[in-house]
Parts: sequence; C-alpha cells; structure tokens
Amino acid sequence: MIIVMQSEAPQEKADAVVRRIEDMGLRAHVSTGEFRTIIGAIGDETLLKPEYFAGLAGVESVMPIMKPYKLASRDFHREGTILEVGPFRVGGEWISVIGGPCSIESEAQFRTAARVVRDAGGTMLRGGAFKPRSSPYSFQGMGEDGLKILRDVGGEVGLPTVTEVLDVREVDLVARYADVFQIGARNMQNFRLLTEVGQADKPVFLKRNPAATVEELLMSAEYVLSEGNDRVMLCERGVRGFDKSTRYMLDLAAVAVIRRDSHLPVLVDPSHATGRRELVVPMALAAVAGGAHGVMVEMHPDPEKALSDGPQQLAPEAFRRMMAELAPIADAVGRTLQRVDTEA
Ligand code: PEP
Ligand code: MN
Repeated sequence: MIIVMQSEAPQEKADAVVRRIEDMGLRAHVSTGEFRTIIGAIGDETLLKPEYFAGLAGVESVMPIMKPYKLASRDFHREGTILEVGPFRVGGEWISVIGGPCSIESEAQFRTAARVVRDAGGTMLRGGAFKPRSSPYSFQGMGEDGLKILRDVGGEVGLPTVTEVLDVREVDLVARYADVFQIGARNMQNFRLLTEVGQADKPVFLKRNPAATVEELLMSAEYVLSEGNDRVMLCERGVRGFDKSTRYMLDLAAVAVIRRDSHLPVLVDPSHATGRRELVVPMALAAVAGGAHGVMVEMHPDPEKALSDGPQQLAPEAFRRMMAELAPIADAVGRTLQRVDTEA
C-alpha cells in the first residue's frame, strides 16, 4: 500500500503514518521527494485497510498496490530511477555500456580489454572472477586474484567495475574489490544472496534467469530493495527458446514491459542472449533503439583464446565499431551516451 502525504504535511504527520504501519507489524519505506513524501507499507498487505490511513492528518491519498512487487513498481516511484555509479548515471536519458571479458584471465588480458573499453567510451568495466560454469571441469575463474586485477585495472582506467558474486560467503570479499555486484542469471532467485546484497552499500546488477517471468525478476529486485538497497539495475539476457540458432532468445519486449511496470533502469546483454559474436552488435543497437538504458557486452583481446564464452566475445575492433554505431541510435531516440575523459 502507498500512502501519499499532502505536499505541506509536516514531518510528524509522516512519522505518525510510519508508526501506524509498524504497529500493524509491517515495515515502512519512506521516499522523500522534492514536493511530497510517499510512504510504502511493506509486508503482508492483507493486514491493511485504506481506512486505517485515510483519516490520518496530512494524508492525501491511499492506494493499494495490486502487483506483488511494491518498491520495484512504477506505482511507487513514478519517475524512472537514475542511479549514480562512480562518475556515471544509469537510467533516465543516460545510456551505459558495460564492457569487458567474460572472465578475468590474467592482468595483461584484462588491462588490454579495459583500455579498449575506456578508449571506446564504455562506462563500466566487467570481468568475472567467480564463474558459474555448467561443467565443474571448466575454468571457474581466478577468484580473489581476479578481483585484485579488477580493482587495480579499474582504478588505472578510471571506470567503475562490475563482477559477479556467486555465493553469500563471498559478498564481503567481492564488496572489498568491486563497485557493482552482479547477480547472475543462475542466482536470480537465490533469495539469501539477494537479501545479503540488499544489506550492502553497493549497486546491484540483477540478471534475469532464462526461465523466469518478468514478474519474477521484479520480485527478485524487491528482495534487494526491501532490505534498504535502492540501487538496483535489471538486465535482460535472453530466455530459453526452442531455436538452436541463438544460445537463448533475446526478449526485447521484456525491456518495454519492465519500463512500463517498474522505475528501475534496465539493460540488455546481447552477448549471453545470442551466444554468437556476429549477432551481438545488431542486438545491442536494437536494445538501445527499443528503450534499454544500456548494454552489457563481452569483449576479449583475443576471443579465440578465451577461457570462457569465446564464440560470443567481440574482438576489440568490433567493440569500437559497436560504440560508433550506438551513438547515432542513442541520439535518434533522445538518449545520451556518456563517457569519461580519455585524456585523463
Ligand atoms: C556473465 O555475465 O558473466 C554471466 C555468466 O551471465 P549470465 O548470468 O546472464 O549467464
Ligand atoms: Mn560470459
């Protein structure tokens, strides 16, 4: 339930609403805007009736939220959320490009990739140190050594870093090295992990599981938001399809659905969605044209030697071309590609 306070309502009226919510055994989430305060009652809504609040002084309106997710809903937050990540903004008019290899394989490999991303105008640097592999015999990532490379190279090129946290036991470790937690597709419904990153003070990049509905993705975001971490970005990365010509099936309509139903920024990962490098750039362009707030794209200095996801990683030249092709698309749909000053 959402309780909208009158624009001139003093703080103590909002406090009284919060007390009433808490007396009912629910939690209150207070969003103080420029003009008015909006209070969300979080918990079992069947315990509440609008009359409990409508009569309180300072209350303008009371709205039950019919969707199972509340804080992630656009009903709760009409304006699209814009997150700050390092010097960049994610959401709103801003287009973000997260680039980098699937896995961090060595300092030299990652530094080469990072410079390409930075010089081409990427906004964040990705690289996996803990890899969720289908086979236990495949390369599992460099672990903490990889995280050290991520931190050092990210600092050198001046880009915020994104890396996957696979397990609740590694949240503190990853937090020491990275700027953004990635929750991978396989962990989208690992609720303990979502709760844990919800209590951390870092943005969360939450990828959709290939078998999850959009509603389930938003419910997972709700886990993070309800713990107090309001810096969540979503990612569409393809769902299970029937056609073997792509690794997954990129569900671009999900981006439009998410933008309609949620205020959270949503990016697209055309690399894992298609699994084939020749399909990555067209789908990155389509994603931005269709309203995504950016893309996450895998790029490797030498994709044929990659230790994971070789067939879908772009070579540096293709990454540069993609950035050049994204600029006019972003422009055409009234969005802005942001970049760091490469002279720095
Ligand atoms: C990744 O981005 O490194 C990754 C493993 O992607 P996903 O979780 O979407 O499969
Ligand atoms: Mn990968």
